[in-house]
Amino acid sequence: MRTVIVIGGGASGLMAALSAARDKDNRVVILERQQRPGRKLLSTGNGRCNLTNTGAAAENYHGADPEFARFALERFTPRDTLAFFSSLGLLTEEEHGGRVYPLSNSANSVLDVLRLALERSGVEIRTACPAVRARRDGDGFVVECEDGSFACDALIVACGGMAGRKLGGVADGYELLRRFGHERTKLFGALVPLVTAPEYPRALKGIRADAAVRLRLGGETVARSEGEVQFTETGVSGPAVFDVSRAASVCGEGAEISLDFFRGRSTEEMTDMLRARRGAMPALEASELLCGMLHNRLGRMCVKYAGIGAAKSIGALSDAELRRVLDCCRDFTLELRGTAGFDSAQVTAGGTSTAQFDPRTLESRLVPGLFACGEVLDIDGDCGGYNLQWAWASGNLAGRLGR
Ligand SMILES: Cc1cc2nc3c(=O)[nH]c(=O)nc-3n(C[C@H](O)[C@H](O)[C@H](O)COP(=O)(O)OP(=O)(O)OC[C@H]3O[C@@H](n4cnc5c(N)ncnc54)[C@H](O)[C@@H]3O)c2cc1C
Repeated sequence: MRTVIVIGGGASGLMAALSAARDKDNRVVILERQQRPGRKLLSTGNGRCNLTNTGAAAENYHGADPEFARFALERFTPRDTLAFFSSLGLLTEEEHGGRVYPLSNSANSVLDVLRLALERSGVEIRTACPAVRARRDGDGFVVECEDGSFACDALIVACGGMAGRKLGGVADGYELLRRFGHERTKLFGALVPLVTAPEYPRALKGIRADAAVRLRLGGETVARSEGEVQFTETGVSGPAVFDVSRAASVCGEGAEISLDFFRGRSTEEMTDMLRARRGAMPALEASELLCGMLHNRLGRMCVKYAGIGAAKSIGALSDAELRRVLDCCRDFTLELRGTAGFDSAQVTAGGTSTAQFDPRTLESRLVPGLFACGEVLDIDGDCGGYNLQWAWASGNLAGRLGR
């Protein structure tokens, strides 16, 4: 009998444990620092758990060497994820953009079926058991926890990253691996709200808009996306913002976010609409110019942003003024001050360097028998189920223990 310890009972660790337990010669133990496993999983997808994306491919992942992820992702594809969860009895539903959720719309369902499968496989879970240190002991390992030590023959580090600190995001995994000689790259939050100069967002707090988003640095567009944008107390958030947030973290201050609230509509079409409104309702105040086209508060803000006094009547607006308002709606620019940091980030960009791991097994090239999976490695995915897909795929591969 071989003992396998998995440090971390999150998405990748639970999958790694199930994968290792398929070999009946393995006794598998999960050490989890929190009171219960899968705590972060319960908060994913706003509590609905966007568990995979049917379009996930290596191209959706980032890191110093994103190609590293290819083997694991191709060995355990989104289709495999769906078949795996279906075999556990989970019903799922695909939504727009290939995002898959449990039919119950509750992340609890995902964790529940994993928990039942772990019980059935005889995997032991020790909760409230943070691994403090791990070291080589002969051909095996000893893991030291606050309440005692555990010996094992193979060790899988699945401690996740720094993102979502309130849900248990910590740096422990990097430190455990560092002591085995593993280096890590610079860490920063990705899929994270952006902090912008305060003037506009605070007044727009709570508004959601559909927009094309561009991230510009020195006048050049460095990233773009489309979809929902939410204004927050300190800046902007939402799926379309998350999509450019990794690039924004790299740019830092000096970059700007440009929002086009009329994506998919031509400037001619919008000019005609504004002229028609001027003709039909000349007595209306200019602040009402965009009424029905944008959220009221946002519409008023765009008029103000174009430098037009709210009390001026629409009929008195020149073509040039209409054009200015339209330009503001199509290029609503916010100065970037930074990101909201690890507390609000959904994933950690950067991590333990993949150069020192074999992509075909996820075994350490420095320490035989030591494996790592999930977010602790320097791989992060796009927004939309890609990070959990990496957790499942890499957990599945690491749990094979080189088989
Ligand atoms: C709010 C939020 C929403 C998200 N939504 C989605 C989504 O809808 N779809 C998607 O694909 N991704 C989503 N993600 C990202 C996704 O949750 C993570 O990428 C994924 O959980 C990473 O899995 P992991 O196993 O590597 O790490 P985790 O899930 O973080 O698990 C790591 C586990 O290790 C434990 N641990 C850490 N240190 C120790 C130690 N020393 N000893 C013992 N245990 C330890 C932790 O307590 C934790 O349980 C979201 C993230 C957040 C924060």
